[in-house]
Order: sequence, then C-alpha cells, then structure tokens
Amino acid sequence: EKFKDGLSKTRNNFSEKVNDLVSRYRKVDEDFFEELEEILIGADVGFDTVMELVDELKKEVKRKNIQDPREVQAVISEKLVTIYEQAGDESMSAINMQKDGLTVILFVGVNGVGKTTTIGKLAHLYKSEGKKVLMAAGDTFRAGAIEQLEVWGERVGVDVIKQVAGSDPAAVMYDAIHAAKSRQADILLCDTAGRLQNKVNLMNELEKVKRVIEREVPGAPHEVLLVLDATTGQNALVQAKTFKEATNVSGIVLTKLDGTAKGGIVLAIRNELKIPVKLVGLGEKMDDLQNFDAEKYVYGLFS
Ligand code: GDP
Repeated sequence: EKFKDGLSKTRNNFSEKVNDLVSRYRKVDEDFFEELEEILIGADVGFDTVMELVDELKKEVKRKNIQDPREVQAVISEKLVTIYEQAGDESMSAINMQKDGLTVILFVGVNGVGKTTTIGKLAHLYKSEGKKVLMAAGDTFRAGAIEQLEVWGERVGVDVIKQVAGSDPAAVMYDAIHAAKSRQADILLCDTAGRLQNKVNLMNELEKVKRVIEREVPGAPHEVLLVLDATTGQNALVQAKTFKEATNVSGIVLTKLDGTAKGGIVLAIRNELKIPVKLVGLGEKMDDLQNFDAEKYVYGLFS
C-alpha cells in the first residue's frame, strides 16, 4: 500500500497517458509506438531503455498477433518487469547482511539527495527488527551534517559516533568500527561527505574511508549504497555514472519517488548501469523506506 501511495504521482502521469493512448488508437501501428516512446521518455525511463523496450514490445505484438491497442497494455507491464529483471540477478536486490558479526554499510551520494534521511530510516528499521545499530557521522564537511544525523539518532534511539566538524572522516570510521566492535553491534551505517565540486578530493576521501573499513573489518564494507534523488531525473543517471567510475557501488537507494511523476528513472538506472535498486524512499518520515520490488513497482504504475 505504501509503495502504491508513494508512486501515485508517477502512476497518475503514466497510466493516464497510456490509457489515453490506447483509447485513441484503433490499431497498433508505427504512430502508436512512437507516441508510446514519447510517454516513456517523458516518464524518465531513459532513451536507450525505451528503445530496447519498444523493440521487445513490437516483437511480442507481432508474435501474438495483437491488433487491439487495449491488449498492449498488459504486454507493456510484462516487458517493463522483464527489462528490469534481465539487467541482473534479482536476488542481489536484498541488502547483504552478515549472519554473524558486524555488517558495515557505506552510503555515498551528493548533498541533498537524502543520504542522512535514508540512514535514519534504515537505523529505525533494523532497530525495530531487534538489531543493535550504530551510525557513523562520516560527513565532517557539510555544515550541520553531524547534527542532522544526531537528530535522527535521537528520533530513532540509535547512537551516533562522531568527531568535531572538519575532522578526518577516516578517523571517524576507525572510531565507529571500534565502538561497534566493543558494543557488539550488528550493523554500522556510515554517512560520507557528498560534495562533487571537487571530484578528485571527494573520491580520494571515499577511498581512504573504504580502506580503513576494509582493514578493520575483513570483507567490509558489505554494501556501498549510492543514494540518488528520483526528482533529479536524468541527472541522477549522470551522478550514478560518476560514482560508479570512482568506487564499487553495490546498490542504489532511490529517494523521493513520492515527489516525482517520472518514476521511470528506476528502469533507466537498472538497465543502463546494471546496478540493482535496493531501497526506495517514499516520503520524509521514518518508515517511508521500502525494499524495491520490480513487479510491485511496475504493476503499481498501472493499478
Ligand atoms: P543529504 O544531504 O543527502 O543527507 O540529504 P537529507 O537526508 O538531508 O535530505 C534532503 C531533503 O530531502 C530533506 O528535506 C529530506 O526530508 C528530504 N527527503 C529525503 N528522502 C526523501 C523521500 O524519500 N521523500 C521525500 N519526499 N523527501 C525526502
């Protein structure tokens, strides 16, 4: 239900247009497909993904000898799911939690995308599952970032390991890991700085943070989650490409899906970057975070 509510803007935009399309056409022809392409591109599905999708659709329509545009609608849903699932192993969409010992999750992404909020929401989720959670205030650069994480910490009842603003993020991670070990925490959620203006510095800093984590906890970080803001559309794709070049991103958190009518960006990200979308943000409150499920998502767009 939450998933459906969160997608209502995209659904209204997308299904309205598709419904309108199928009611205006009497047969499925080239013009029909061209209009469908425009609708999909308008929903931020991404040019390459749209071309691939429409190609598949045309084949299927021919194979099944579909004449009635209304029958195409079901095939669109089917193909949207297929294109998502073809892009990679669906079992990879779960968070890689360690059965024993500490799980370390590193969050990366530019400022304002919803990193802190996501960490707070996830801390709440894991805590409510009975796990011992700690957060590391690794964004020592942005004014207010540490305090903001602490506000979330108080709200959800989870401790934040921090140093003063401006200190070395790698040192914060070192402290946080040791605190996590001595308190026998199950999960450590690590914030990082998100300035992109100075890409080289940012990436060097990220690598340094990662090295500390790798050294102190063998096999960690267990996830490097890139947080992207769905409302920024194709810009999110560009950010994702930049981060993918710089570090091993294991999954995407797509925030603010509730705030966009262009939720098709999920498909573009998955199909063009081959990185699984693991979590989606559907609001500002602590339980507005959901595991991503391609089928729920696609069928949520139409129903
Ligand atoms: P950060 O700079 O990446 O840490 O971003 P923040 O966590 O501070 O989030 C920036 C803004 O986006 C805040 O006002 C959040 O409340 C808001 N935000 C984060 N996630 C979501 C979401 O899923 N939906 C909506 N509507 N707002 C969100």
